[in-house]
Amino acid sequence: MRPIFAASQATRTVPFFDYPGLFQEHREEYMATVEDVFTRGAYILQRDLEDFEREIAEYLGVTAALGVADGTMALTIALKMAGVGAGDEVIVPAHTFVASAGAVNACGAVPVVCDVGADHMIDVESAGRCVTPATRVLMPVQLNGTTADMDAVEDLARAHGLQIVEDSCQAFGARFKDRPAGSFGIAGSFSFYPAKTLGCFGDGGGMIFNDQGTADRARAFRDHGRLAGGEICSFGVNGRMDNVQAAILRIKLRHYNETVARRRRLAGLYHGLLEGVEGLALPTPPGADPHRFDIFQNYEVRASRRDDLRDFLDRQGIGTICQWGGKMLHQHRGLGLRADAPFADKLSASFLLLPLHHLLMDEDVEYVCDQIKTFYRK
Ligand SMILES: *Cc1c(COP(=O)(O)O)cnc(C)c1O
Repeated sequence: MRPIFAASQATRTVPFFDYPGLFQEHREEYMATVEDVFTRGAYILQRDLEDFEREIAEYLGVTAALGVADGTMALTIALKMAGVGAGDEVIVPAHTFVASAGAVNACGAVPVVCDVGADHMIDVESAGRCVTPATRVLMPVQLNGTTADMDAVEDLARAHGLQIVEDSCQAFGARFKDRPAGSFGIAGSFSFYPAKTLGCFGDGGGMIFNDQGTADRARAFRDHGRLAGGEICSFGVNGRMDNVQAAILRIKLRHYNETVARRRRLAGLYHGLLEGVEGLALPTPPGADPHRFDIFQNYEVRASRRDDLRDFLDRQGIGTICQWGGKMLHQHRGLGLRADAPFADKLSASFLLLPLHHLLMDEDVEYVCDQIKTFYRK
């Protein structure tokens, strides 16, 4: 059937994300900073990076932090710090970016895929069934800006003597019972990819630590195993964050509370306007769960007739996304992974991200909700 309305007749367009807008927002500040950094010739491992590392550790209230090349590098180094290597297994939930499993593979270990629950996070019972004598690490993924039930994750880890390595790439500043995402295991990982809540203008990643010894080992590892004096203490990688990205991120961090507040406000608006729409399951609205502080990296719903809804919204000028190209980890054939993950299998037919970022206007969200209601009324 041909669409009744051409996209050009849409009264408004709401692209999924606004990449150019990110730069325009604080353009003068960014340009002045780039000018300053380049004028100083401060490209690699300079004071801007050190300042950024100190500031994110303070912001999250942890012992130490490190800037690294990207979120995948952060995960890989964290697994290395946990001692993960050939022959080890790491349990990873099915609903995640390939990078979670890719980092495991990069360490020579095997990712074992478990199911997720109705909150889209790791299903701890399913994870428990995946434990074998080779299991070394449990990797909860703090998806969409909130956290898994970390009490249950910690109980399972303790019961089997496993380490925790969080994929908290989507959850900078999220909290579970007042502990920050990324602070539960040996090291937490963050991605500063442009579309992340704290995004730079290229690739970037971060790590946090509760103990200075691990932080020091990771600091050397990300720079070829080099210590401050130049002596090599072990093999390592080049996993450094560009100094100019650290300088950009320092500016972003100063505005971060506003960014998160704006995202939470828009998520609340979505909830108010879409609550009760038959065919949709919504995330927990901000403030409703006393144990969690959600930074709303994403607004992920479950939608019946999802593909038709996407086509309809697209014709109304509204961009939506199915994360990971619409596939759960074990559904990417090229990876050769298997999983007993019935909820994730169902989820892959219904999960959908609606536009949510801090540059969006209230009217954009109202328009999106109006169109969704129109679709489900038909
Ligand atoms: C963004 C992301 C990563 C890693 O991202 P990079 O592109 O390497 O910075 C890892 N896991 C999840 C869940 C992510 O969303």
